[in-house]
Amino acid sequence: MLRLGPTNPYNRNTVNNPYDPEPRFTWPHDKRCAVMLCLDVDGETTALSEDPKLVDRLTTFSQCQYGPEVGVPRLLGLLNHLGVAATFFIPSYVAEQHPRMTLAIANAGHEIGAHGHLHEKLAELTRKEEEAILIESLAILENLTGKRPMGHRAPWFEINPWTAELLAKHGLHYSASMMRDDVPFLHTNGLVEIPGQWMLEDWEQFAFNPDPQWGVIPEDCDKVYRLWWDEFIAMRDYGCCFTLTLHPWLSGRPSRVKLVERLLTDIQATGDAWLATGSEIADWFQENPSARREMTL
Ligand code: ZN
Repeated sequence: MLRLGPTNPYNRNTVNNPYDPEPRFTWPHDKRCAVMLCLDVDGETTALSEDPKLVDRLTTFSQCQYGPEVGVPRLLGLLNHLGVAATFFIPSYVAEQHPRMTLAIANAGHEIGAHGHLHEKLAELTRKEEEAILIESLAILENLTGKRPMGHRAPWFEINPWTAELLAKHGLHYSASMMRDDVPFLHTNGLVEIPGQWMLEDWEQFAFNPDPQWGVIPEDCDKVYRLWWDEFIAMRDYGCCFTLTLHPWLSGRPSRVKLVERLLTDIQATGDAWLATGSEIADWFQENPSARREMTL
């Protein structure tokens, strides 16, 4: 089996290559990059946000239930074993349906961020509707955990022109939805954005359901490991923020938990990566605004 890790040729270090620009960001503890592990616990809202009638399609619906019921406990065990704190974005409907899961995540020291109520597509909402859902979802998560969320990940990553304003108005410190950069940047109102990208998402690699059609053909874990490891190593060289997004109904399956274990273990073994939650990254940037280096021509 192909096994890539810190001792193989993929672990090349090009940071001293004179053709490379300076690192994009200065990270704490002399680390060369940041790693933000996001777990989007969409659960039942994966189906319900598409069509409420899918609740009666028991097999399709049960695939969504696998995330909160099996995937999350298994991934929590792995994160505890590795000593990694992750950022869980949870639709408040899912948090309400699974209060023990939500508390277990919070009690294990992970961060919980807002992710809509029923995983609503923001692009289909008016500003008023979006604000009402934001207020409701923040209240539900705060009631369940005793802690007000500091971060927001838009369902499907898509935000509206007014979203950053709403998030700041309701006390959030950061958004994690845009894809304009590979290090954090500021919205015009000062809200921190921690960008992601579709390549570092497990949906595109692993999702499959025949009807409704989700995904295409599940990829094999070695290929996905290579995809993500190569991006991590390159992002480390460029001083980026490696924002990886996993869905427990996909990455909570046994062989994929092993993939996540391999990846995180190899990332930790480099000694160069700052594994941090969204709040930690946003706070670091707010306290150290000169950490960001603009791209220059
Ligand atoms: Zn989601």
